[in-house]
Amino acid sequence: MKSQGIKIQENIPLAPFTTFKIGGPARFFCEVSSEEEISEALRCAKDNNLKIFVLGGGSNILISDDGFDGLVIRILNTSCIIHDTSIECGAGLSFSKAVGLAKENSLSGLAWAAGIPGSVGGAIRGNAGAYGGEIKDCIESVKVVEIMQNANLKNKNDNAKLKIFTNSECGFNYRSSIFKQNQNLIILSCVLKLEKGDKAGIEAKMKEVIGKRAQKIPTDPSPGSFFQNPTVTNKNLIARFEKDMETSCRDSKLPAGWLIDETGLRGKKIGGAMVSEKHANFVVNIGGAKAQDIMMLASYIKMKVRDELGVQLKEEIQYVGF
Ligand SMILES: Cc1cc2nc3c(=O)[nH]c(=O)nc-3n(C[C@H](O)[C@H](O)[C@H](O)COP(=O)(O)OP(=O)(O)OC[C@H]3O[C@@H](n4cnc5c(N)ncnc54)[C@H](O)[C@@H]3O)c2cc1C
Repeated sequence: MKSQGIKIQENIPLAPFTTFKIGGPARFFCEVSSEEEISEALRCAKDNNLKIFVLGGGSNILISDDGFDGLVIRILNTSCIIHDTSIECGAGLSFSKAVGLAKENSLSGLAWAAGIPGSVGGAIRGNAGAYGGEIKDCIESVKVVEIMQNANLKNKNDNAKLKIFTNSECGFNYRSSIFKQNQNLIILSCVLKLEKGDKAGIEAKMKEVIGKRAQKIPTDPSPGSFFQNPTVTNKNLIARFEKDMETSCRDSKLPAGWLIDETGLRGKKIGGAMVSEKHANFVVNIGGAKAQDIMMLASYIKMKVRDELGVQLKEEIQYVGF
């Protein structure tokens, strides 16, 4: 496949680009850092009638054993400019690097995110959150490349357009945003709005968060929480949770991990896939897992939770190439 400025490789294994360490190859693969490079990748895909998949840090996806039969565009824009109370950064910057830079510059607002893997772009798309924080609360604006699907464009180069979304235009919601709903939006960079803070205080909060995460989060390869915490209407189930966990249920959402635990699936294995012993909402790769093993285990979990508790779980992770 011909391209002027970007290198397009063929048949590239994708498993190493994911935290799950699972999945087959990309038929075509390229790495891009700028609007121009994204546009060129999109042009190549269009000219060759290929589907695209935008890859960030690969920490929230399951790639099929057959891989992805199209062009994988890996976002590598890691630019970063520190302002007085904000950070302007590329979508490819690792989220933990952004959190660390905020601390180094005594900017508060991101300590809750210490330890979350992946890229800034991926975090924005899924409105990443932990311990009461969500990235939506730190976003001033997001710069995107919008894929123009209009085939009648006179100028072949007009296949992509730059756009800036303010926070209120991002449609943030629980683990969602307009960028998740609209596949034509590729996040290029953002401005994180923070506050002047005390470096030692920020560091202490980050340490606390990392300590809490270490107790809960399995170290085996995984894509993080597998299912979203569902909104539940069954009052008896909510009362059972509150009694069992000695805590109150917020916004009628029950932790998916608690629901899975209630069905006794902690430790359940199919092939190399297992419901983590440490946290039941983590499906982990205990060695050599196939995407097929993960899919079978995920279906089994959903069936058990639906049949026994009447709750329909929905994946937080994204399936790629299925
Ligand atoms: C051990 C572990 C712990 C985790 N803990 C948390 C947690 O506490 N809270 C939390 O919210 N998440 C958590 N996660 C999940 C994951 O880290 C986040 O969802 C992360 O923000 C995903 O970013 P990514 O760059 O890895 O996205 P990827 O996995 O690369 O992609 C995920 C989706 O985002 C899209 N995407 C990626 N970059 C862009 C872009 N620039 N433009 C448009 N679309 C894009 C992809 O196409 C894909 O659909 C955890 C994961 C792991 C492995």
